[in-house]
Amino acid sequence: SLPVVAIVGRPNVGKSTLVNRILGRREAVVEDVPGVTRDRVSYRASWSGRDFTVVDTGGWEPDAKGMHQAIARQAELAMATADVIVLVVDATVGATSTDEAVARVLRRSKTPVVLAANKIDSDKAEAEAAALWSLGLGEPYPVSAAHGRGAGDLLDEILKVL
Ligand code: GDP
Ligand code: MG
Repeated sequence: SLPVVAIVGRPNVGKSTLVNRILGRREAVVEDVPGVTRDRVSYRASWSGRDFTVVDTGGWEPDAKGMHQAIARQAELAMATADVIVLVVDATVGATSTDEAVARVLRRSKTPVVLAANKIDSDKAEAEAAALWSLGLGEPYPVSAAHGRGAGDLLDEILKVL
């Protein structure tokens, strides 16, 4: 079976948009309203001639109640089932307490973690990505899932650790 890349993070950071960017087509449902549960979460993708499965963990999201625990469970499930975990953070907001809670779980991960600093839509916003070094997950990769900026570098890094 194909290697698995799990996309994790709190609601509304752009996980589904990033999945669509990786797929090169709009298949994962993007919502302005956070926390909408979807049934289909696994997609077949390829990049640089390598095939893999990408999992949009948005399908595992419950409501906002108990968000820290829910996100921690999401991360633990990803650690148990994925070959690479991509933590998506909204770099325009910065690290929230929920982001810090999931980062705390992922810092123990034996599965490699790549940190995606999303919503960096312009050069000017790059400094916002650098602030996410504070999560202790290494280099934040600035990306605009919506516009494609930085997506190639992020995918190259994902494949490097896959
Ligand atoms: P999810 O809940 O983490 O799956 O987030 P979604 O992919 O559904 O996106 C949530 C919202 O953020 C939507 O309104 C997206 O259009 C928006 N969004 C996602 N990626 C970007 C980005 O790179 N830049 C900007 N400006 N907005 C984005
Ligand atoms: Mg989603």
